Amino acid sequence: MHYVILRDDDTNALTPVECLEQLYRPFFDRGLPVNLAVIPNVRSNTISTDGALEKFLFAKRADTPPELSIGGNAGLVGYLHENPGFNVLQHGYDHSLFEFGSDRLTNIANRLDQGTKVLSAAGFREPQTFVAPYDRFSRVSLNEVAKRFSVISAGWFELRRLPFAWWPQYAIKKMRKQSHWKVGQTHLLTHPGCLLSYQRPYATMLESIRKQVESQCLTVLVTHWWEYFRDDKPDTAMLEILHATAEWLAGNPNVRVISFDDLARCGDNLWR
Ligand SMILES: [Zn+2]
Repeated sequence: MHYVILRDDDTNALTPVECLEQLYRPFFDRGLPVNLAVIPNVRSNTISTDGALEKFLFAKRADTPPELSIGGNAGLVGYLHENPGFNVLQHGYDHSLFEFGSDRLTNIANRLDQGTKVLSAAGFREPQTFVAPYDRFSRVSLNEVAKRFSVISAGWFELRRLPFAWWPQYAIKKMRKQSHWKVGQTHLLTHPGCLLSYQRPYATMLESIRKQVESQCLTVLVTHWWEYFRDDKPDTAMLEILHATAEWLAGNPNVRVISFDDLARCGDNLWR
């Protein structure tokens, strides 16, 4: 069996409900769960690594406040609650650049705890999975995240940013060429880059997803909702690829689509 977890990053208080609905209704119609990495308290002036305003803020207007908690968008929160197929993950705190790349313990701990509080205040179950903005961790932040979450989903883990106590497990993971590993009770999952992205060739996107899924026990497929709505209009070709992916995943008897919570519940016996 090949397990697949679909992760969509950057949902925040400025995310239009229609975007998520258009993307994921075909998943829910087929009973496939979708994991949303939600920014608890987005900064509406976040500048990305390329120096431009983050594209997940495209709905920002002149009078948008500098910080917005997810709970402030009642329509979006209501929609997420109405659709239990969405599994909410914590995506940082405010998504400012490299917010979890620092070694400032108090600052890191506050961001983690405040982020969880904001999600809980919006009525979401305490998140069990953490996704760091820009995949940037420090030794301190990884340690603090592992104390609070049972799953960390990242692109990769670098030795120089790992707590020293994790080095032996990391060496074993490297030796065994494992994509996913575990430290204490925390699952550390990597993903093979964003395969569902407008920056990939459209003609081969679905094929590369199939190959990836069939080559592993567990694949985390990462995408970003805003990539499908660039330049104020839906990218219908990319939407079609996403929906063809849903069709392929649902129709393949050797594939099971699960949520991060399923993994947290069942542990690695699910995919080992
Ligand atoms: Zn992000």
